Amino acid sequence: MIGDTPLLQLRGVTPHLAGGVEVYAKVEGFNPGGSVKDRPAWNMVRRGLEDGHLRPGKTILDSTSGNTGIALAMIGAALGYPVKLVIPANASRERLRVIAAYGAEIVESDPMEGSDGSIVLAKKMFDADPDAYFKPDQYYNPANPEAHFLTTGPEIWEQTAGRVSHFLATIGTSGTVMGCGRYLRSRKPEVEIIAVEPDDAFHGIEGLKHMGSSIVPGIYDESGFDRKVGVATDAAYEMVYELAAKEGLLVGQSSGAAVVAALEVAAELQSGCVVVVLPDFGDRYLSTNLWTGWRDRHELAAAEENQ
Ligand code: PMP
Repeated sequence: MIGDTPLLQLRGVTPHLAGGVEVYAKVEGFNPGGSVKDRPAWNMVRRGLEDGHLRPGKTILDSTSGNTGIALAMIGAALGYPVKLVIPANASRERLRVIAAYGAEIVESDPMEGSDGSIVLAKKMFDADPDAYFKPDQYYNPANPEAHFLTTGPEIWEQTAGRVSHFLATIGTSGTVMGCGRYLRSRKPEVEIIAVEPDDAFHGIEGLKHMGSSIVPGIYDESGFDRKVGVATDAAYEMVYELAAKEGLLVGQSSGAAVVAALEVAAELQSGCVVVVLPDFGDRYLSTNLWTGWRDRHELAAAEENQ
């Protein structure tokens, strides 16, 4: 059930674009675990089983900002392997509950240290007892981008009948942009690959990394894309509201950021086929600042202005 997600043409947020420009969204929320991370999680586990690093008696251990954790918890449950996940204590409640529902154990890391804090703590746990664990290590495991090279990239190629001219993906581990980019370039060297990141170290876009201020993932390689676009948290949130209201598409913060960048790129073109990855749906963020804090304050400020 992992993969083969739909490619949806965005029409509600694109009327200002030139007539020859089309924007398509790869809607990854349709994966069974609810996000794009089902693909690399399954590919890393599959490779681990093949090479013998994952075998009965071992526990799957990793650090994750959330979606990979859900995917690993789901896959571990389906295959009968216990799963232990290190997650910043301020990750969204919905995600933590879903992970717990699959029977995985959650170890909370310092929220002030973000995803880097989880990485460090998970490594410490693994080093203390390496024989007990299989650590997929999505930041360093080539099976992460390989998942996208083998599935997401080819799907986009087929779904656009090779017309894709620009491809955008947000960067967390960078697996999506690296793997899809490599595949699409192999089919069409002139395709433009664009990485999307938060424009600031202190951002509110769950799942993403601001590379300049983070531990750089081992799989990250700047030659794997043509350019990088920075997106502000406010703009990403506004786009989430707009996509819900104008496309009937309720997605997460990183999808908002991805579409902001896609529309920026698309606005430069007279013709083109722009494809952007929407990593997950929005229902798992209803308790986060995206819907509970920022927007309430925003509406309050607007109401005061109108008085
Ligand atoms: N958006 C969300 C919501 C995510 O969870 C992730 C993964 N951390 C990404 C985007 C980025 O994907 P990748 O790890 O492939 O760069």
